[in-house]
Amino acid sequence: MATVASTSSAPATKFSLKNIFSRVFTKKPSKNQLRVSELEAKVQKYKTALKAEQDRNDCFTIENQQLRDELKACKQQLNEKKIASEYQSENYLGLIEKLTKEKLVMVSELEHDKVQLISQLQTANQKLTELQNAHSEFEKIQNFNDSVKELEQERKVLNIIRKKNEELTKKHMKKEVEKNGEEFPWQSCEICMEKYSHKEETSPRILACGHTVCLSCTKRLSEENVIKCPFDRIGTQYNGKIGDELPKNYAVLKMC
Ligand SMILES: [Zn+2]
Ligand SMILES: [Zn+2]
Repeated sequence: MATVASTSSAPATKFSLKNIFSRVFTKKPSKNQLRVSELEAKVQKYKTALKAEQDRNDCFTIENQQLRDELKACKQQLNEKKIASEYQSENYLGLIEKLTKEKLVMVSELEHDKVQLISQLQTANQKLTELQNAHSEFEKIQNFNDSVKELEQERKVLNIIRKKNEELTKKHMKKEVEKNGEEFPWQSCEICMEKYSHKEETSPRILACGHTVCLSCTKRLSEENVIKCPFDRIGTQYNGKIGDELPKNYAVLKMC
């Protein structure tokens, strides 16, 4: 409006006849009209630009919304992944704990097995030592058996010598008895006057006091497992059979 006002207050020279004439007849548009057209064109241009801008803005808005949606989806996905990962992590922790427990159990079982094996080994070693001892004992016994055999041989030789000696003594005693004209008193039991012999009942038996009587007399003298010596009243105790417990007087037997 200011521009139009300034135009209307143009110098008076513009309103000359020449000017008016030329305007009317040449149908040339006035400056104002040109200006209006120009402005209208500009407005149109701005409107178009504004429309384009609005369209672009709309596009941006849509794009923005899409991006927001995508971001939201991404966040959700991330969250889900995070939850899944936490769950998995918990699972792994549980698994690790379980495995650790199993390992401990296995270690303790192995320890137990080890202790048992050591004990078995000790037992085996002990048995081996026992076997070795038994073996050495066996060797000793074998040595002993050899010695027994040697002794047996010596005993046989001694028996032969003893028999010869007995025969000689008997012969000698026979001569002595012949020379004496009768039996010697120590050749007979002093209680029953029976002659001593190798027969069981008339065999001479030594009492604890040192006196000798025949087995029959020891049985007669016995009372509650005690034999009282008729010469000195000293008791001889016995537990089983008298014949098995009282020793024979071989010195006497040899000369009967
Ligand atoms: Zn007698
Ligand atoms: Zn006596």
